Amino acid sequence: MTQLRNRIKCSFYNIIEALCRNLDIAMLKSPCFKGKAVFGPVKSRRLGYSLGINTMKCKMCTYDCVYCQVGQTSCRTTCRESCLGSYELYCVVRKKLELLQAQNIPIDYITFMPNGEPTLNANLAKDISLLREFGYKIAVLTNSSVIWNDKVQEDLMFADYVSIKIDTVNEGTWQTINRPHSRLRFQTILDGIERFSKSYQGILTTETMLVKDINDSLQEVEAIGTFLKKIKRNKSYFAIPTRPPIESYAVPPDSHVLSQISDFITNNILDSEILFASVEDMFYGAGEIENELLAVLSAQPMREEAVKNFITSKGGGIHTLRPMIESGEILLIPFNGNSFYSIAPSYS
Ligand code: SF4
Repeated sequence: MTQLRNRIKCSFYNIIEALCRNLDIAMLKSPCFKGKAVFGPVKSRRLGYSLGINTMKCKMCTYDCVYCQVGQTSCRTTCRESCLGSYELYCVVRKKLELLQAQNIPIDYITFMPNGEPTLNANLAKDISLLREFGYKIAVLTNSSVIWNDKVQEDLMFADYVSIKIDTVNEGTWQTINRPHSRLRFQTILDGIERFSKSYQGILTTETMLVKDINDSLQEVEAIGTFLKKIKRNKSYFAIPTRPPIESYAVPPDSHVLSQISDFITNNILDSEILFASVEDMFYGAGEIENELLAVLSAQPMREEAVKNFITSKGGGIHTLRPMIESGEILLIPFNGNSFYSIAPSYS
């Protein structure tokens, strides 16, 4: 009798597992995920060659930052969800790594940098544990808005490198620049950051985006500097918008303001680095050109020259780009004297 019950239980589990797997595979083939789950590697100033992981099927975030480069938040939430099964992600990454290795394309980090907030992924710890098997270091770039949640902290402990966003320590400015979900509490986030920094054993960095007339006063930067003294971190980066933002007013501070801020940071904030100069974009890919391009653009707009270089390196040309432009899938957007290709909002 017990044996029969165990056999029934086992068959039931197998059916459920097969159903879930088919659902995941169907999801991966759906236009939402098509080629998007793994992208790059993208050359990054902080992480070198970074293979991007994007497990979100739409732009799901706790914030709707004015400078966001991946478009308006279509799903502003604080609830954690699993959009893609860990095993399916593992299979897609394995396939991608095989292609990249065959083409001698280097990788320094596998980085969770979706078009949204990576800690909203309820599978994060499991995903990291599985991907670790490939032998690469794992990074998570989070906006830190749910870092007060113990489960999120536990998940982040699995990563080798965590970058947290601290654009301000002033609640009014936070509302203006990050436009948070109404359930979030600012002080709880700051306390969560402090607590996490004291227990995390990997490399912890912070990132502050400075936007003209929002958080570019010396008082703002001074207050951030005071908060940074309270947390255990390896480095703090200060950046400015260098890609087309969602709000046209989210532009870099004026040059004289940037120069004052630079002096202040250099002289007062230990272990900090200023990333005000824009660098050339570079990215790679080993699969179909169109899919690779769409996947990268889902996570960040890329300079026109970088897109052209990528397409040429893959044997493509203007004929590759034209249908994507004509169908409205990608757009060419001017920003700060440069032109960027970006994914159209309806496709992100
Ligand atoms: S910048 Fe990051 S945190 Fe802000 S809305 Fe965009 S994805 Fe979310």
